[in-house]
Amino acid sequence: MRKISIFGATGSVGTSTLDLIRRDRDAFEVVALTAFGDVGGLAAAARDCGASIAVIGDEGLYGALKDALQGSGVQAAAGEEALVEAAQAGADWSMAAIVGCAGLRPTMAALKAGGTVALANKESLVSAGALMMEAAAQSGAALLPVDSEHNAIFQCLAGSLLDDVARIILTASGGPFRTCSREEMRGITPAQAVAHPNWSMGAKISVDSATMMNKGLELIEAAHLFPIGLDRIEILVHPQSIIHSMVEYRDRSTLAQLGSPDMRIPIASALAWPERMETPCQPLDLARAGRLDFEAPDPERFPALRLARHAAGQGGAAPAILNAANEVAVAAFLKGAIGFLDIAMIVEDVLNRYSAAAPCRIEDVLEVDARARAMAGQVMERLTA
Ligand code: NAD
Ligand code: MG
Repeated sequence: MRKISIFGATGSVGTSTLDLIRRDRDAFEVVALTAFGDVGGLAAAARDCGASIAVIGDEGLYGALKDALQGSGVQAAAGEEALVEAAQAGADWSMAAIVGCAGLRPTMAALKAGGTVALANKESLVSAGALMMEAAAQSGAALLPVDSEHNAIFQCLAGSLLDDVARIILTASGGPFRTCSREEMRGITPAQAVAHPNWSMGAKISVDSATMMNKGLELIEAAHLFPIGLDRIEILVHPQSIIHSMVEYRDRSTLAQLGSPDMRIPIASALAWPERMETPCQPLDLARAGRLDFEAPDPERFPALRLARHAAGQGGAAPAILNAANEVAVAAFLKGAIGFLDIAMIVEDVLNRYSAAAPCRIEDVLEVDARARAMAGQVMERLTA
């Protein structure tokens, strides 16, 4: 029996993870499930899988969670500290699927506790990659990438030496506006931006896919997970999302991982690793797909790609600043407060105005994150004034 915890259990990745463990209940014992505001969803999931603890991030919802768990035997907890404690509650496999830098402290706590951490929460790695990789190395935690591209790369590497890798080719769907001009992008609404052509995901990552900031964040994520040098990590647009990424070795042999665009496939790969498990996912039907297309990314129409590569090259605090400004801008876009093209503009503005020393501790990252958020707020005020 594997003892598992899921951080962000009510989200898109969280519910996909629960779907897999429900199909093989005897193989998993659930320690902790967490969510931010969805008390009903969290309590139902915790009851259903017999979790020991359920943690709601919003402290004000403690009473509601306690009521919802009445008679279930599931312990209720609330608040950020409780999320961090839940990460040390004895799971040997944890899914980090909180969205945004909010996942950083629980993810770090899980890494420090050792065991296996399946990482979907890319923003934490973007903001604090060096510290997270160091924490994993020190505790001996296995950090398994769940992001489909990084999971694909991990599978294509299959334990090979990074010294033998010539290039990593990170594939990108190009999002819903792949063929749009800048002019056409100007009036894009939140509803249009969250409607991804291939993947069904949470709102924030869907907007990131539409601006292609998602691929920028993934570039930074890849540079931490697979340190072969930024210039050897390339982005390739592949609209069908069938090839999830590729690794080219120095003998020019290239390995690709393919599959239906269903997050349960990379999640299952991390759940069963180093073995394999059954999933209910559609097998690949290449005859039906007919063709696979590829094109170069366009950083002119998608400036987020340029900004992320630049921040990655700068290193230090720059990726945390990029991420924080993007989180604020995406949230404002989703509320209808700013336009689609403003997102990258705000990120660029904050990156130009604010630089900070490379963070040495998690507290430093959180401070950079808070200051970059405040600055993004100021930039936005000026924009909407
Ligand atoms: P989502 O919005 O569907 O779910 C987010 C989860 O995090 C929810 O359970 C929510 O309650 C919780 N949460 C939100 N804010 C929180 C806070 N402040 N404190 C504690 N918990 C909080 O998001 P998602 O699409 O499942 O994405 C989760 C992460 O996985 C993101 O980092 C995303 O980039 C990454 N990811 C997602 C997909 C996908 O297919 N959805 C694919 C690859 C990577
Ligand atoms: Mg991805």
